[in-house]
Amino acid sequence: MSQSTKVLRLTDPVSALKGIGPKVAEAFTKKEVSTIEDLLFYLPRKYQDYSQITPIAHLQPGQVSIKVTLSQITARRVRRNLSITQALASDESGSVRVVWFNQPYRAATLKTDVEYFISGNFKLTSQQLSIVNPSCEMAGDPTLSSGRIVPIYSESKVLSSWLVRRAVAQALLLIHSIKEYLPSYLVKSAGLISIADALQQIHFPESNQQLAKARRRFQFDELFPQLLANELTSQERRKQAAIAVDFKLDLAKSFVAKLPFKLTDDQRRVIWQIYQDMGKPLPMNRLVEGDVGSGKTVVAVMSALMAMAKGYKVAFIAPTELLARQHVSTISALLKPLGLDDHLVVLTGSMKSSSKRSAVLKANKVPGAFIVGTHSLFTSQIDWSNLALLIIDEQHRFGVDQRMSLQKRAGHLPHFLSITATPIPRSLALTIFNDLDISRLKQMPKGRKPITSKLIAPSEQSRLWKSLEAELQSGRQLYVVCPYIHARERQKNIAAEVIYDNYKAHFNTYRVGLIHSQLSQKEQTTVMDDFIHKKIDILVATTIIEVGVDVANASVMIIYGPERFGLAQLHQLRGRVGRGQYQSYCYLMLSDTLSPPERLRRFINVDDGFMLSELDLAFRGPGAIYGKLQHGRKIGNMLTLDDHELIMLVKSAVAEFIAKGEPLAKYSELAAEVESSQQLTYLN
Ligand code: ADP
Ligand code: MG
Repeated sequence: MSQSTKVLRLTDPVSALKGIGPKVAEAFTKKEVSTIEDLLFYLPRKYQDYSQITPIAHLQPGQVSIKVTLSQITARRVRRNLSITQALASDESGSVRVVWFNQPYRAATLKTDVEYFISGNFKLTSQQLSIVNPSCEMAGDPTLSSGRIVPIYSESKVLSSWLVRRAVAQALLLIHSIKEYLPSYLVKSAGLISIADALQQIHFPESNQQLAKARRRFQFDELFPQLLANELTSQERRKQAAIAVDFKLDLAKSFVAKLPFKLTDDQRRVIWQIYQDMGKPLPMNRLVEGDVGSGKTVVAVMSALMAMAKGYKVAFIAPTELLARQHVSTISALLKPLGLDDHLVVLTGSMKSSSKRSAVLKANKVPGAFIVGTHSLFTSQIDWSNLALLIIDEQHRFGVDQRMSLQKRAGHLPHFLSITATPIPRSLALTIFNDLDISRLKQMPKGRKPITSKLIAPSEQSRLWKSLEAELQSGRQLYVVCPYIHARERQKNIAAEVIYDNYKAHFNTYRVGLIHSQLSQKEQTTVMDDFIHKKIDILVATTIIEVGVDVANASVMIIYGPERFGLAQLHQLRGRVGRGQYQSYCYLMLSDTLSPPERLRRFINVDDGFMLSELDLAFRGPGAIYGKLQHGRKIGNMLTLDDHELIMLVKSAVAEFIAKGEPLAKYSELAAEVESSQQLTYLN
């Protein structure tokens, strides 16, 4: 009795709900649900529409729902592994056979004097049409999985959708304690339903129309903080002054004249866009997107030229020390013909402190220093007061915070140029990243050989060994990429350590190396140097080698567990080969013999990174691609960014909110969402 009189609160743990023991509570914790409120925001993954009740006389094969009474309930054991429970279901229009295989407990629970909803597959079995293994529930039960639009949740072994529905049905009794976190005038002007109603309908839709309204509300909630954050950041940036850098035509001309190649039209166009941005006292915020090998480095270096000539600093941030060092030699070669290579300074975390000190001295002494390093650059003693340009290579996590802290150290906001081989799909660029100006390098320098990509089934391993052997014999090197480092229970055969052993055993006359993030920086450098200098023939790695690494002699990229990677990431990995004159290959090692997912089948035939980024978005949805954006409230993956009506709706709400001039802090939850949206993270 005391149990039922206890008043539940949103902040209570889910275990306070009836029927939730420690095991289920733990399963919920794994889904990041610990309180009743969390549970209410644990949104269905999809729905099965069983709301259309069909009279038995009109049943067609397929998914059906009927409202019936049962008779002739029988249970029998056919053989050791097979029991059959049957009943005759009837409504006013007729009768139909219902069958459950291996659910002997059914018979005892079924009654002949109540009405049931039965939903399931109506099909031919043992020469007669029956409804097979359906759900069967008493009409009026709040956890119903039949006779309505049934929510399906993300499940685990312990956590069935049915269990979630039963827990949610109790939690919904508290729905009116959920507070509205958007300004109420916006809810009204955007024509949205309240968050409480939206939660009610999303878990227990009355109709498809109500469900659509609930979805709209959640889509709005996903997009609104994001676009508001964009707008606020953009306004803030426009108030800042950057160093305006004059364009010098003769400098640009003499640089171009001394290049060992002719710039593509795209490169010229993008460089010109950058010069125009940098000529203004407003901080540039530009992303240059271009496939692997499209020649982004020269664009970055040309962007730096004008600033260097004026005696301003330029900083170039690489994602790893390894790449920083690789960039130094490339950049040095590009600057040499103009005698500017002695402006180059390298500063990385693993350098000896004496070398670091002299790097800092040089950076501060040489006018127009070009400083290459990793993020640790910003904790150094370098004087950033005349930093004109900050170039960020291949990093998707340079957020507003970092920019602000840099601004503090520099006293101003530098021009900001980000370069990447992972394009942002158009729709994301127009909505989520709309404070970013984007330049695209679509043309590739001439003479690149396309990479041959193939899907390899587990049964084809021995044939693969042979072709790898042939590559090794002609002196080429191989990359082997795995999604995990250590062997875990279910993914043993795709862990780098296991694959490393396999390759070592199979190719025992070749040198096999292993690299991953758990090695020290120094060990990583040694392994990588060995690969570059061909002291290693086969490099087994994690995605640590994803960006930038440049070994022209490597001609094969083998990827284990490709199902686990996004297309953008697979494309990046593939870009590690095909960098020399050799025909190169990319092999995706499928984990099982089932037919490969369509996105992988598409991948092997598409070598344009821009197209792949769009495909990735289409296949996985925005949530999976920039999923890390969504902290705080766990909202599912409801955004559809090509929904122009939604985007217009949100944009006008943003404008309305800003025009009203209220402090954001008044809405604490919204403020928190806006802040986390500013930690931009995109594309895994
Ligand atoms: P990414 O865009 O992947 O960073 P890089 O800037 O490293 O590519 O350029 C890849 C290679 O292409 C380099 O060796 C570079 O010198 C060369 N390259 C760049 N632009 C051109 C061009 N217009 N014509 C020919 N080769 C070029
Ligand atoms: Mg590059």
